[in-house]
Amino acid sequence: MLSIRNSLVRSSTHLISGKLGDALAAVTHRFPPHLLNPGATSSLSAMSSNQHPSGLSLEQIAMLRSLAAETAANAHAPYSGFRVGAAILLEGGEIFTGCNVENSSFGLTNCAERSAIFSAVSKLGNGIRLRAVAVANLNNAASAPCGACRQVMLEFSTQNTWVFFPGSKGEGDIRFSDLLPLAFQLDKK
Ligand SMILES: [Zn+2]
Repeated sequence: MLSIRNSLVRSSTHLISGKLGDALAAVTHRFPPHLLNPGATSSLSAMSSNQHPSGLSLEQIAMLRSLAAETAANAHAPYSGFRVGAAILLEGGEIFTGCNVENSSFGLTNCAERSAIFSAVSKLGNGIRLRAVAVANLNNAASAPCGACRQVMLEFSTQNTWVFFPGSKGEGDIRFSDLLPLAFQLDKK
């Protein structure tokens, strides 16, 4: 697993080779083909012992959590000292990361989850769909996504979106629709 993750991290470090496309491509992580598992497995009987109810493998989930923790090291959190990272997996297999960026006005602070989602939309457009969101922090604390992030995640979520986060009793995991019941959605008709 580590070697897989390291190869992904290495692939993200050769930024700016002169062509904008290369630079943009380099900010995106992606599961190696053998780890990419498009479409969730809906039948328990079809799952291997290495598979999570989300349809993702335990290896994939561990990698997302690891990338989230790694990204937390980049957090700008001089006011709270609470450093959070997020890694989002899109249905196309792309992975984007984000960290919290605080501001002295406090109200302008942006969370890790939203940072990652905004980064993904900035690169791929508004057609992105979230397969998974992994959250980690460097404070050994529980940190489920806040209400604001849940509402932003709703915009790009499906019935197949799962969230992985540090819970109060160890690693938490939940289907997104269970994380934000009775959500507000604008009727566009
Ligand atoms: Zn948040």
